[in-house]
Amino acid sequence: MVGRLPPVSKASSAVSHMMQSRVTHRSLLRTRALIHGQWIPTGKQFSVLNPADGGQIAQVESCGALQAREAVLAAITAQPSWAGTPHKTRSDILIELYDLVCQHSEDLATIVAFESGKPMVEARAEIEYGARYIQWFAEEAKRINGSIIPAPTNSGQLLVKYEPVGVVAAITPWNFPFAMLARKVAPALAAGCSVVCKPSEETPLTALAFGQLCCETGLPDGAINIIMGDAQEIGLELTSNDQVRKLTFTGSTPVGCSLSAACMSNVKRVSLELGGNAPFIVFEHSDLDAAADGLIAAKLRNAGQTCISPNRIFVEKSINDPFIAKLRERLNKVRVGHCHDETANLGPLINTQAKRRIERLVADAIDEGAVMEFETPGRQDGLFLPPKIVRVYDDDARIFSEEIFGPVIAVSTFETEEEVIQRANASPYGLAAYAYTIDNGRSNRLVSDLQFGMIGINSVGLSNEMAPFGGIKQSGIGREGSVFGITEYLQQKYCRIE
Ligand code: ADP
Repeated sequence: MVGRLPPVSKASSAVSHMMQSRVTHRSLLRTRALIHGQWIPTGKQFSVLNPADGGQIAQVESCGALQAREAVLAAITAQPSWAGTPHKTRSDILIELYDLVCQHSEDLATIVAFESGKPMVEARAEIEYGARYIQWFAEEAKRINGSIIPAPTNSGQLLVKYEPVGVVAAITPWNFPFAMLARKVAPALAAGCSVVCKPSEETPLTALAFGQLCCETGLPDGAINIIMGDAQEIGLELTSNDQVRKLTFTGSTPVGCSLSAACMSNVKRVSLELGGNAPFIVFEHSDLDAAADGLIAAKLRNAGQTCISPNRIFVEKSINDPFIAKLRERLNKVRVGHCHDETANLGPLINTQAKRRIERLVADAIDEGAVMEFETPGRQDGLFLPPKIVRVYDDDARIFSEEIFGPVIAVSTFETEEEVIQRANASPYGLAAYAYTIDNGRSNRLVSDLQFGMIGINSVGLSNEMAPFGGIKQSGIGREGSVFGITEYLQQKYCRIE
């Protein structure tokens, strides 16, 4: 059963010297696809760049439909033995993986920082956060309890048991290359599913390093496979292949919609974690310092490139000026810089397209009547974009109705609770919402009336392994983390026994 690969001490020559010099365990620097416990070359490569300086950090093997088919085949081969592995053993193997991630956390953080551009302090936090999902689901593997239902007659019993859904395809984005993968792979493995992972082409190295650590545990060959390259070809194969029984996707709403439509042609289970457009409401009667701290922390995390980032800031009119002053004070302390700069707390955007899109969003908003309220001084070269505050007067402006995905704080004022709830809910998205208030009655009304999957009252710390992360409306289907997270990878079997 054990698919242990000998650790390789020599890094692939496809990885830059700079990267090699900063990663202690070179065996984590993988550039080939992982299929059935083997690192597979494809003969075609693509480049991975460091967003902070544009330098090439690796040449990674590019996969297409052929490798996707092979990866699915490997997962199908591994599925029965992994599903048949006792829950306790699955748990032990996941604990082994958790321990390895903790042991190699600095190397993993370095790889995350290099390919995503985020500051090391954030990359370290991401590894710790992702590792906790592995630890959590290692425990959950032992708690996949069924139930016994009273039978309609006295002679028999009705049993409900949970079984793994089968082979899972996991498609992940670049903003949290480790955590998004860990949040999917850990519950899938805990449930007894084998997995084919397709990380983002912007950030495949973290997934491959994670794959290496998986290979150093007792996971059977083929229980985890990692392919990257032609996203469309791979996506087509993974969704059309009837043997893949579940797709779990985090990314943009349009891609999520088209992949889930493809999954319906063979009735696959889907979990989707898509875009958001989070309102952040600050009431007059609130702790304004806590609100300003919360907003800055949540807005600038990963340079604003998170799906639960506050996107529409609603400030009660009476406290607009003092609140904006508090934001300016905090923004003046932001230090934009390279991931190697340990004093930096804001990194670059992921690519040129992302930066241009945000610049256009701001320029269009200003053309249409918005006002540039404040621009933080700092690096603007390359993909760096210092934070700004833009005052918006029209909720239909694109900067308010689209996910900004960058360090731009778009603010508007409101006068009544009813008005702000109605405006906050006026979005097709329903992922996260935040509000700051010291009024308990108001808190209760907000929790009940805001139409979002996750609500933070006087808190922006929504995401942790113990809580169900996910959205409603066009923000997605399903939940990651918590006791509910594993059910996404389980199917019920009901039996009547007489
Ligand atoms: P983002 O804008 O955050 O990159 P995307 O939805 O484009 O969001 O990408 C999220 C993930 O989906 C990435 O791994 C990307 O490669 C993948 N992806 C994008 N388009 C497709 C597609 N047509 N089929 C399968 N995967 C895709």
